[in-house]
Amino acid sequence: MDAKVVKKKLGLKDRYAAMTRGLHWDTTYQPMDKVFPFDRYEGIIIHDWDKWEDPFRLTMDAYWKYQGEKEKKLYAVIEAFAQNHGELAVTDARYINALKLFIQGVTPLEYYAHRGFSHAGRQFTGAGARVASQMQSVDELRHFQTETHAISHYNKYFNGMHNSNHWFDNVWYLSVPKSFFEDAYSGGPFEFLTAVSFSFEYVLTNLLFVPFMSGAAHNGDMSTVTFGFSAQSDESRHMTLGIECIKFMLEQDPANVPIVQRWMDKWFWRGYRLLTLVAMMQDYMLPKRVMSWKEAWEMYAESNGGALFDDLARFGIRKPKGWEDACEGKNHISHQAWSTFYQYAHAAAFHTWLPTESELDWLSSKYPETFDQHYRARFEHWGQVQADPKEGRWFNQFLPMLCQTCQVPMLFTEPGDATQICFRESNYFGQKYHFCSDHCKEIFDHEPRKYVQAWLPVQQIYQGSCYPEDINPASPGDSPVREVLRYYGVNGGSDNGDFNASPDRQNFADWSGRRAVAAADAKK
Ligand code: FE
Ligand code: ZN
Repeated sequence: MDAKVVKKKLGLKDRYAAMTRGLHWDTTYQPMDKVFPFDRYEGIIIHDWDKWEDPFRLTMDAYWKYQGEKEKKLYAVIEAFAQNHGELAVTDARYINALKLFIQGVTPLEYYAHRGFSHAGRQFTGAGARVASQMQSVDELRHFQTETHAISHYNKYFNGMHNSNHWFDNVWYLSVPKSFFEDAYSGGPFEFLTAVSFSFEYVLTNLLFVPFMSGAAHNGDMSTVTFGFSAQSDESRHMTLGIECIKFMLEQDPANVPIVQRWMDKWFWRGYRLLTLVAMMQDYMLPKRVMSWKEAWEMYAESNGGALFDDLARFGIRKPKGWEDACEGKNHISHQAWSTFYQYAHAAAFHTWLPTESELDWLSSKYPETFDQHYRARFEHWGQVQADPKEGRWFNQFLPMLCQTCQVPMLFTEPGDATQICFRESNYFGQKYHFCSDHCKEIFDHEPRKYVQAWLPVQQIYQGSCYPEDINPASPGDSPVREVLRYYGVNGGSDNGDFNASPDRQNFADWSGRRAVAAADAKK
């Protein structure tokens, strides 16, 4: 019989060291630099990876156990929600369009983040950063899955969700989030961490998740709220990774400071442009409002973000270059974006509508300096056009110019002058490229070889890349817009168009009516 081995139980700290740093080894058959070629070429200098601190001290085995428990709770709620027809408890069916935007534009980013962290984690020679990236990679895959499951229930009852992966790869407004992440994960591993862990997770994530999740809670959507809670503890780990990574790079070598500053300038602006979609959702798409975009910006960006950059000043870091312009934009971008989507609702995969009278009043009160002056009359004019039987709902038939960098249509106005569209150009090898702002132009000018490759949906439509194979462009009966929608797999009129004319609205009214009758019967 074998002798019994007495195992000494490790303390928490030793156990953590054994399960993370203890798993690292230096390669001997090949030099480390050849095995890890990407952690140097960006110019970031790391002298001592052991200085990397992981504040959570989470090991993989504890991670799985902890996540497994959260998973059980989440799926119990989703199940109960489905059985009780929770979709009928939302404020009104307009709200569902915020979920469409989420499954079309946010959920695919979780999958990109999963891929990006697998890739970045593989490239670091430091074990601490590798373990943190690995856990975040698994978190992000889980977010993709849980969001898909939480929202899939709505897909049974509402239009505009059935083809979201194909849309993400093709449809114009979804190229905004898509290009953001493809730009990030085609950078080096340190740039990826600055883009995603720091700018996105640490500086901007509150502006994404707080409006979406408290919007969901205010509008009666318990399924999405439960997903949000389940992801929240992961998010706090991700945010900590973001700030840890920035401080680590800044502390390791002063030569890292200008590189990190340039990334912060770039990724703050790219993240801010991406949030245009969230700003619009917050001010226009939630039937029951939580707070205005402007209020959210002031709370989460100006005061929290401002304090963060004050703290980083000791390393020689200043606020991102686009900061002032972004702060001015808080008064404008949601209105400019909703105006654009209102005009192009026939080419999107969700519905738009005009704000009601009381919603216009709410906007006037939240935006006292800009809404009455620049935007209210526009919505009222469209309301008159829509009410006139000779005119009807107006849809813009011309495709807009897109910014080469952020891929948002040219809808933003000049800093300091909200009556002029902001428009910039650069020339590169005899070709002209177009930008929405000084900051998008500057990002392009620094790496033109990267951004000339952008797949711009509007240009692709005009080049004929977005038609179904069986189309005959010479046939007089073919409508280009209809054919592009057919290629997208968007069902014109039911997935898109004005909300008031939609089957979603009609169905929701019918089901809610029937539910009210059933409830009254049950009381008898
Ligand atoms: Fe996530
Ligand atoms: Zn731009």
